[in-house]
Amino acid sequence: MSEIRLYVSTTEAVAEQVLNALSDLFGEEDYAIATQEIDEAKGIWEASIYGLAEQEAEIAERFETLVGQSFPTLKIEREVLPDIDWIAKSLEGLKPVRAGRFLVHGSHDRDKVRQSDIGILIEAGQAFGTGHHGTTAGCLNMIGEVLKSRRVRKALDLGTGSGVLAIAAHLMAKIPVVATDIDPVATRVAKDNARINGVIDGIRFATAPGFHHAVFREEGPFDLIIANILARPLMKLAPALVGHLADNGTVILSGILAEQRWKVIAAYNGARLKHRRTTWMNGWVTIELVR
Ligand code: SAH
Repeated sequence: MSEIRLYVSTTEAVAEQVLNALSDLFGEEDYAIATQEIDEAKGIWEASIYGLAEQEAEIAERFETLVGQSFPTLKIEREVLPDIDWIAKSLEGLKPVRAGRFLVHGSHDRDKVRQSDIGILIEAGQAFGTGHHGTTAGCLNMIGEVLKSRRVRKALDLGTGSGVLAIAAHLMAKIPVVATDIDPVATRVAKDNARINGVIDGIRFATAPGFHHAVFREEGPFDLIIANILARPLMKLAPALVGHLADNGTVILSGILAEQRWKVIAAYNGARLKHRRTTWMNGWVTIELVR
């Protein structure tokens, strides 16, 4: 079943008002509602509601009524979201995965890396994160966009798995990165991968559950924190995670199923972060939050 997005394009202030009106109207129902900056220079924002294609008629009717009454100058537009089959993709196994400028590939595909790519060599191995999963690809895309548009001096990759996200952040921005995992096997594999990619000196690794380790105090606060774990632990980690975030910092969260996103966003709103945008890949979402 494909998913649709109905949205209006407007200014930041009006997008916020539409978001609030949509939240009042759709209340507790399980629709994703979000604002997203489209063009920073022109100050264009979109306020959107997402639903399944079969719900479109009903959502559209209610959204039309709301816009007609309260925002008569705005026009509702629609987008059908791409339906990416990540299971089929993962069965392609060792094919290189492109996410923004990053190309995650195995050693037999070194020659596929083009000059403008940031190649990351990861062999399918013991730790999660060859780039084939929607959450890893979603994080890579978002990391690329955040590092392009914002000043990041230090990043943290919590739940580093294969190390792919930490390696990506360091390769792109040449900044110090801290990478941690609860699983010592993952930390070891991530270290090996950092060595293979020539970035071992730029990344400090530690084995730690959540934020229980001196490394966070010693190295933090971080301008960018990436955590691709799962919804429940991410919610629990919200206060500690935000406690290690620098002023003006950005957070990228993934490992979250589409239907869990509201609980996760609520937990981080509770820790005083604002939702900036959500991207989707086959049922999984990646969320960007800012102070
Ligand atoms: N960052 C990689 C791996 C994601 S898989 C990628 O995006 O592809 C999630 C990883 O988080 C696993 O390696 C798991 O061991 C780790 N993890 C799970 N719970 C954790 C916790 N509480 N603290 C630190 N790491 C955790």
